Parts: sequence; C-alpha cells; structure tokens
Amino acid sequence: MRKTLFLVMLLFTIIACKQDNSSEETAPKTNVSNSSEDGFQWVIDKFSDKKILKYQIPDFDKLTAKQKGLVYYLTEAGLAGRDIMYDQNYRHNLEIRKAIENIIKMYTGDDQASDDYKDFMTYAKEVWFANGIHHHYSMDKFTPIFHRDYFYELLRKSGTQLSHEAMSAIFEEDLDNKKVNLDESKGLLKGSAINMYHPNVSQAEAKAFYKEKARDDGEQPIWHGLNTYLNKDASGKLFEEVYSVNGRYGSAIAKIIENLEQAVKYAENDQQSAALKLLIEYYTTGDLKTWDDYNVAWVESTEGDIDYINGFIEVYNDPIGYKGSYESIVEIKDFEASKRMAKLSDYAQWFEDNSTILPAHKKKNVVGVSYKVVNVAGESGDASPSTPIGVNLPNANWIRKEHGSKSVSLGNIIFAYSEASGPGMLGEFAHDEREIELTEKYGGLASKMATALHEVIGHASGKINEGVGTPKETLQSYASAIEEARADIVALYFIMDPKIVELGLIPSQDVAIAEYDMFISNGLMKQLQRINPGKDIEESHMRNRQTIAAWAFEKGAEDNVIEKVTRDGKTYFNINDYQKLRTIFGELLTELQRMTSEGDYNAAKNLIENYGVKVDQEIHAEVLERVKKLNIAPYGGFVNPILTPTMDDDGVITDVKVSYPDSFVDQMMTYGEKYSYLKVR
Ligand code: ZN
Repeated sequence: MRKTLFLVMLLFTIIACKQDNSSEETAPKTNVSNSSEDGFQWVIDKFSDKKILKYQIPDFDKLTAKQKGLVYYLTEAGLAGRDIMYDQNYRHNLEIRKAIENIIKMYTGDDQASDDYKDFMTYAKEVWFANGIHHHYSMDKFTPIFHRDYFYELLRKSGTQLSHEAMSAIFEEDLDNKKVNLDESKGLLKGSAINMYHPNVSQAEAKAFYKEKARDDGEQPIWHGLNTYLNKDASGKLFEEVYSVNGRYGSAIAKIIENLEQAVKYAENDQQSAALKLLIEYYTTGDLKTWDDYNVAWVESTEGDIDYINGFIEVYNDPIGYKGSYESIVEIKDFEASKRMAKLSDYAQWFEDNSTILPAHKKKNVVGVSYKVVNVAGESGDASPSTPIGVNLPNANWIRKEHGSKSVSLGNIIFAYSEASGPGMLGEFAHDEREIELTEKYGGLASKMATALHEVIGHASGKINEGVGTPKETLQSYASAIEEARADIVALYFIMDPKIVELGLIPSQDVAIAEYDMFISNGLMKQLQRINPGKDIEESHMRNRQTIAAWAFEKGAEDNVIEKVTRDGKTYFNINDYQKLRTIFGELLTELQRMTSEGDYNAAKNLIENYGVKVDQEIHAEVLERVKKLNIAPYGGFVNPILTPTMDDDGVITDVKVSYPDSFVDQMMTYGEKYSYLKVR
C-alpha cells in the first residue's frame, strides 16, 4: 500500500488537464520488473525517451451486454478516424507511416538484429507514438539515427514507394522542423509543420479571414474554423475545406458515422441517443452550429454509465487556436471515486465567493460543473498512444457558461502509470525527510484533490468583463498558459483552505503541504527534465507551472518563503512558510483573473515571458544530470485493450471479451491495416 501511494503521488505532481499529454513523470527503478503481484505486465516496450504501458478496464464484466455493445462501437468509431490525426499533424505523416508499415511487413532482409534495423524500428515507434514525425511534447522533428542510404535499401528491398518530398521531410533537418511553433518571430503558422492551413497562408491572413467570419457573432458564437483546412487557391483567395463525409477526410468520416450509427442502437437512454444522432449529423454536414447543438446535448446527457469524446476537439496543435485535432476516448463511469468530486461541485459557489479574485470578476452563479472519475476503454487520435489523464469539455465558452461542462479524470490510466512506475524523483529532489514522508503518505490524495479543484473549480471560476473578447482573442498565444495557470492557482489556493478538511475531502492540511512541496519542486526543477539543453519552455502547461513557482519564489524572497538550498552540490527548494505561500498564490490568482477578465494581453505576455519561458541554464543542466542518473523515461504512452464482440444471428452483440496486447508494434501494425481509411494524397 505504501508503495502505491508513493508512486501515485509522483504521477500527480503535475495537475491533470485534458491537453496535458504527458503527466507522468516517474520511471521504473532499474531492475524493477514493472509487473504487479498478479503478474500483469504494465510496461511492454521502451525506446528513446518513452515507454509503452497497458491499462486494464476494471469492472468491465459488470456492464450489461448492451452497454458492452455501446463501448465496442464507440471504440471502433474512434479508431476509424485514427488516420486523420496523422494528416493533421503534418502533410507527409500518413505517407511516411504507411511506408514504414509496408517495410515492416514486407522486408525480409536477414539484418533485422542489426543496429541499423533496430534504429529504423525505434524511428517507427517514435512515429506511432507521436502520430507523426514530430515529438508529441517538444514538437521537434525526430532525427533518424539510421542513414538515408540504409532507408533507401529498406524501401527498395520491400518494394515500398516514398515520394521525394516525404523523403526530404524525414532527413532534411531544417525542413518543417517544428510541429507547433510559438515563436512569433518565425511566424506562428509559417514556422509550424501542422497541416491545418495551406503552407502559404500566413498568421495575419488566417486571422483576418476568421475575424471577418466572426463579425456577426452573437452571444453564441460558433468556433469558426474548428473543422476545416484553410486553403488558398491559385489567385491567392482563401477558402475552407470542411471535414465531413463529403469533404476533407470523408472516407474516414464515413466509417466513423457507420460505427456511431451502430452505437445509437446500444445507447443507454434517449438523451445519449439524441446526442449521438447530432454527432452523426455534424459529421455528415460539417455544420458547426450542429456541433454546438451536439455539445449542448452531450453535456446535458449525464445519465448512463458510458460516455465518450469524439470529434475535432482540442486546438493546441494549432498555434493560433482555431483548428481542432481529431480524438476519441471511450469512458466507463467509476462510481466510488466520483462521489468525492460531486461534493466539491456542490460547493462551487462557496469557492467562487471565497476566492481572492476581484468582486467584479466573480460569477454570481457558477453553473453545472461536473467532475467524474472514469475508466478508459479505448482511445484514438490526439489521445493515443500518449493520453491525457483528465478531460474538461466542451471548449466553447458560451456553452460552458449556459450549460456547464463535463470534467473527468481517467482513473485506470492514472492507476496504470502508478503501477508501472518506481520511486526515484522524490528521493532525488525532496529537500528533507519530512517532505518525503508527507509526500509518500499524502501525495496521491493531494494530487487527486488538486486535480479536482483545478478542473471543477478552477476552469469554471471567474467571468470575462462585458465587451471583452474571449482569451483566445485577447491573450492570443498566451491564452492557454494563462488559463492553465489560473486553474492551477485556484487549486493551490483552495487546497490549503480549512474548508477542504471541513468537507471531509482530506484528513488534514498535511495533504495541502504535500501538494505545495510537489508543485514547487516540479515547477522550479523536476519538469525541466523534459526540455533539451539550451531550449526555452514552449508547452503551455509547463510554462504555467514555472510561471507560478518562479513568481511565488520571487514574491516571497524577502520573507524567505521559499528557500533555495544548496547541499553537496545539489539544489533544493524548501518551503519555509506555507501560509505565506498561500497568500502569495492568492495574489497571483487575483492578477491572473484580472488579465483574463480584462483581456490584458501585455500583462499576460509579460508574466509568461518573464517567468515561464526562459530556463535557468545552471539549474537545468543540474536537473538533466540528476535525472539521467535515475534512468528515467519521461514519457509514457498506452496500447489499448483488444475488444472482441460476440454476436447472435441477427448481428446483435451478446458479449464483448477484453484482452490485452503484449506488443506495441503488433497493435500499431494491426491498426495500420484495419483502420487505414485515408488515402495518401
Ligand atoms: Zn486545465
């Protein structure tokens, strides 16, 4: 038990959020088998900076046959769109992946134990892991270790075709070398490899195009551009290609629809069925008004044990935030864990009233915040193999305001991470024994609590001043980092509130102390393990965490609230005064909400640029050195369970069996064959 807590808490050092695709930051100790006592093998592959895990679906057998049928078809619908994510990430991805898969299938050379071939296989795994040839987190293009000539040989001997352009994309270092570029000087669009805009469309052109579209937006604006490719014709005129059954990605979307139509037959209730039908209509027409109607129906469909996410959802892969990435997650409710979250939700208004945000920025009625723990049954697209550990949707602000949102934590994913991990980071970066002890004892609970606060209270809190645009419009490329910082800081502020103990959510404030310790050491040190030497921090969540921690460190310097300690040549950050730190967090909360409410771009830019982007080079080098000694793979991804249905003579599902794959390569090859619904352009 002690071990479980110890591991879980490391995982939660980073607060969960939908878009945080690598919240896991522990790694197996050397020589740990990564299997649990019952022999279940959690880690099935390791390569470069990654490892591949399995997750289990607990209590699947408690579902009725009809529910299992629903899970099955929703999962199939998700996988049907898998190719889309590859294409959205980069225009050559699909061609490259298919070439790689054909080599693996057809190549019969006897050098498959050679370093060259192993390097090729590592590259293949990297591509599968990232849904393309750019690192899912750093956004940098992968550098193949094998030689171009060797790759030619593999292509030739396996009878595989690859265009000259795709070949260049793999081997020319400077070509399209960043998936999502947030460095304004390079041009947010022109510097990004993502395939959501014609390569000749500039940021200014795209923004002007969508500003024009948004001109007549009323109180319920659709998310212009969410499901389109912004193209440019020969005369330089911009036009959109809509993702729909008759438009872009039509052949994959047809298969998604086919499976959703089956899912409708297994729906648990009328609401669920109505929502699914709207989703089908949306995929059929590509109409974003229907997408909003669907989201309203989906968010209000709260009965039933099965839920899902399917569509073009998160916009983090678009540096200017219009285009949704394809993703799917199928979820089964976890009743036990959801109870605690429901309680928090009941008190949402209390938190709003007792927050440090300015009275003018407070909501009078915090609406319909729901937060649940679910178990994942299948993932695809943007959510796989690298998965979020929490989800909060829909993204449209007006729907969230008027109809609320759904927040879930992916319980079995988090559990799998913890089972597969080993201690190491805590021992290395904790300042003292008490910190280790409290983190071991309460880290897991602290992080669950902080995550719940972040999602349920944080994202729901605060309002935007009348006449001020959405953060996407006002704060622009800093909107994500500010929004995540705002949610994180709400969590940090309230976890230390006596109310949380009073509500019975945590046994004592020691839990909050553990959370503060974890947050500060992560924000100032541990997360730097994910940054390459000399690079800035670019990912929104990481920027937000360093911003909070560095800002608090600076504000508390005079009172030595957080102390920088050097011992045996190693740096530690020790919190001397937790209550003062809480006050500082409260001040930052006031300011973050003010920026958001007033749309203060300059303040947001200054805060993030001054505290969240640049890396302390000395500390960074030290962290990398210390982490290296721990032999850690910072990123985890997952294979999905295999769902095998049994049907009666009428084709009705009577049961679904769950089994677990043992090979990442096998699953990726199977998916590549079975769900290959897009043709290479
Ligand atoms: Zn968040």
